[in-house]
Amino acid sequence: MKAFSPEFGVISFLLKGGKRKESPFKGALDPLSHSEVVFNATPKSELHFVREASLLHWFPNMRGNLEHQAIAQVMAELLLRYAPHGMALEKEFDLLLNAFLALDNTSHAPEILAKWFYDLCDAGGYSISLDHCMRCNTLLKEPAADFLPNEGGCLCRTCLGVHSAHYSDSFMNQLWQLKLGKIVPDARALENTFFLYLKTHLGMNKDLNSISWLKEVRNYANTTRHQTEKTES
Ligand SMILES: [Zn+2]
Repeated sequence: MKAFSPEFGVISFLLKGGKRKESPFKGALDPLSHSEVVFNATPKSELHFVREASLLHWFPNMRGNLEHQAIAQVMAELLLRYAPHGMALEKEFDLLLNAFLALDNTSHAPEILAKWFYDLCDAGGYSISLDHCMRCNTLLKEPAADFLPNEGGCLCRTCLGVHSAHYSDSFMNQLWQLKLGKIVPDARALENTFFLYLKTHLGMNKDLNSISWLKEVRNYANTTRHQTEKTES
C-alpha cells in the first residue's frame, strides 16, 4: 500500500493479512483516509511493516458526493505517482488534508481542485504569479490582460498593448476571482491550465486515470441535471 505522509512524502507499506475480510486496522487503511500509522522501518527495503493504524478522518460526505470523491482521487493519484519518496512534504500534506476537509464539509466549492493545483505549484517552488505583471512588475489592480503559462504569470493591459491575448476575458476574470479568494462558479478552464503547468514542472509524461474519471462523473452529472430540468418543465 502506498501512502502520503508529511514526514516522508510517499511511503510504501507491506500489510500482513491486508486482504483478509476483517482487517485489524478497520477503515484506517482505506483509500482516501487520513490516519496515524505506526510502522517498523525496514532499513534495507522500501517497504515498511504497519504495526498500528488509527483512523483520524474518513471523510464520509466527500465519499457520498461522486464529484468530490473523484476530485480527491485526482489529488491522491497525482501525489502518489509524482511526489518524491523519503522527503518531508509538510506543506503539500497540509494542502491535501485541508482540501479533503473542504470536500467533506462543503457541498459546493467548484474551485477546490483549481486552487489546490495552484497552491501545489506554490509549495513546489514554481508559483504562478497572479498579482504582478511579468514584464513591467506592476502590481495588478484589475484582471490581467493575458496569461503566460511559460513564464508562470500574467501580463498587464499596457504590456499587452495592441497584441491580442491568448486567453479570453472570462478566463482572466476567473484567475482574478481565484486570486481574490472568491468562488469561481466554473473553474474547469483554470484546472486544465494549472494542471498543464504542473505537468510540465513535475515532468509528467502520462495523464492521470482519475482525470478521465472526473470528466465522466461531471458529464454524467450534467446529463442527469438536464434530464431533471426537462422533466420539471
Ligand atoms: Zn506590464
